[in-house]
Amino acid sequence: MTCDLFKLATPGVQNLHPYQPGKPIEELERDYGIKNAIKLASNENPLGPSPLALASIQTLFPDLARYPDGNGFTLKQALAKKHGLKIDTITLGNGSNDTLEIIARTFVTPSDSVIFSEYAFAVYPIVTQAIGAQAIVTPAKDWGHDLTAMHAAIRQNTRLIFIANPNNPTGTWIDQTSLKAFLESVPEDIIVVVDEAYFEYASEHPHYPDSSQWLSSFPNLIVCRTFSKAYGLAGLRVGYALSDPDIANLLNRVRQPFNVNSVALHTAVAALKDVDHLQKSLAITRTGMQQLIEAFDEMKLSYIPSIGNFVTVDVGQSGSEVYKKLLFEGIIVRPLEPYRMPHHLRVTVGLDEDNFLFTEALRKVLEF
Ligand SMILES: *Cc1c(COP(=O)(O)O)cnc(C)c1O
Repeated sequence: MTCDLFKLATPGVQNLHPYQPGKPIEELERDYGIKNAIKLASNENPLGPSPLALASIQTLFPDLARYPDGNGFTLKQALAKKHGLKIDTITLGNGSNDTLEIIARTFVTPSDSVIFSEYAFAVYPIVTQAIGAQAIVTPAKDWGHDLTAMHAAIRQNTRLIFIANPNNPTGTWIDQTSLKAFLESVPEDIIVVVDEAYFEYASEHPHYPDSSQWLSSFPNLIVCRTFSKAYGLAGLRVGYALSDPDIANLLNRVRQPFNVNSVALHTAVAALKDVDHLQKSLAITRTGMQQLIEAFDEMKLSYIPSIGNFVTVDVGQSGSEVYKKLLFEGIIVRPLEPYRMPHHLRVTVGLDEDNFLFTEALRKVLEF
């Protein structure tokens, strides 16, 4: 007799659509026999990690037989200093995705509901559904979060609200006044997560809020940050949550004891020190974004204005088809079918040369 193993999973897991990552460069090169492929699909830093961070990795290798510091003391100390907060406000994660999942598992049961927006980051529905909780998805407004709709969606059983600021994959964002008013309007017994994965890029905009400054006013607020984007360490997996110490205490109970590995802990500290590399990375993205937008304008393609290191463009036809044609040109972008945006592609701002080759390939594929 064969047992239907699928049926053994919880109903939430049975209906789960796995996260679809950007295609790895090696996979494209292997499958298509292409060399020098360009990946603009996962919002990584095209400059790579800080050279200082890279140099410091090696000093750690002799210690790899040892477990990491389960409390991540040195990294937390550096982060506390950076944010002007106490160490006990920090929860480290194996990427900020890990912290998002820890938060959901800490506060949400299958009889609760979680609110997030249409087109919001794909990890919110995944962590909600893995628990078997109810997802309340509010309609987007101009591709971004409609905070009025999100507030109106609150129910008796709502425990958690996810907000991506700016949002991935749309690049839309919420200004300081609106976000603060929203936080003031949400009952204190509902956790609000503000996911600031693109903070460093976004904070160049004058009205973009640093919600970590509001932690003392809103005990139900959790702010998530990451080393995966502007700090160029996506492969190492380090992120963190900032919150009231009582919340951090709960999150740290749920967190796996050694969720951040020792190389990641060590390298993140070195990356924080390299302000120069960060500034260079932001500057490259600023000019690269301009380069992409000008090309879209020339092609008369509409795009969603973004304050992240990526931009989402309407190609006026099946995005998945254009994505496949771009693969043959050696370029990987992100089709947004999984987000129900079938005509859009999300493109990470790359180096000057990458952006040029991408826009040339796009012209060719769209027959300009
Ligand atoms: C990239 C991204 C993250 C960060 O993921 P990591 O797990 O830290 O690599 C979190 N939230 C959003 C909205 C993102 O786009």
